[in-house]
Formats: sequence, C-alpha cells, structure tokens
Amino acid sequence: MDDLSRFCCLNPDCPDHGRRDAGNLSVCMRYGTQLQHRLLYCTTCKARFSERKGTPLFGARLPRDKLLAVLAHLADGCGVRQTARLVGVGKNTVSRLGLLAGEHARRLHDELVGFSPLDYQGPAR
Ligand SMILES: [Zn+2]
Repeated sequence: MDDLSRFCCLNPDCPDHGRRDAGNLSVCMRYGTQLQHRLLYCTTCKARFSERKGTPLFGARLPRDKLLAVLAHLADGCGVRQTARLVGVGKNTVSRLGLLAGEHARRLHDELVGFSPLDYQGPAR
C-alpha cells in the first residue's frame, strides 16, 4: 500500500482540494521508464495527476539523483556555473531548476506561514 498521506488533490474546483490525508487519493497508474512515478486519482472529483505535479521535479528529464544534486548545490550557495560544472549538467538546466525550486519554496512558505497561532498568548516561555 502506498503512503499518500503527504499528497492532496490539486484540482482547485474539488471540495477536497488541498486537504492532505483525506482518503480520497489512490494510485491509478505508474509511469516513467521504470514505472517509478505514480499517477494519483481523486475519488471526489475524478481528477488524475502526477505525484510530481506542482514540484520542481514535474516534467524533469534528469535522473532524480542528479536533479537533487543540482538543488543541493544551489541551496548550499554554489553559483549556476559552479553547480553546472560540479554536477555535470548545462547552465540553463541549473537556472531553470533554480527558478522552479524558488517558486515552489515561495508558495510553500506562504502556505505554512499563513497560519495564525492558535495560542493567543504566543509561544511557550
Ligand atoms: Zn479532487
């Protein structure tokens, strides 16, 4: 059984949109050269989407380890040229992945920081 607790329906018109671990998702297919990616199905709205949709990994042709190495180098402060040289990919690839990852991180930040604290007294002292 696949663990889908981190995923949610990405269809903005779905009543379960954005609700993680709501029990509405299942794996309906696998795809990729080694069937390594899962196609998820929402039982609420009948939408199907890749488990990678909405992430910098969506549609990427690079092998996963190389892709993660690019992002790790960028996160560690390496420049575009340095990252391209160390990982063995093109400069444009590094730039594109950096922009995608940055946009994804911004959206995640906005989602996580948007919560108001439940405790009006503030953090524990
Ligand atoms: Zn849905």
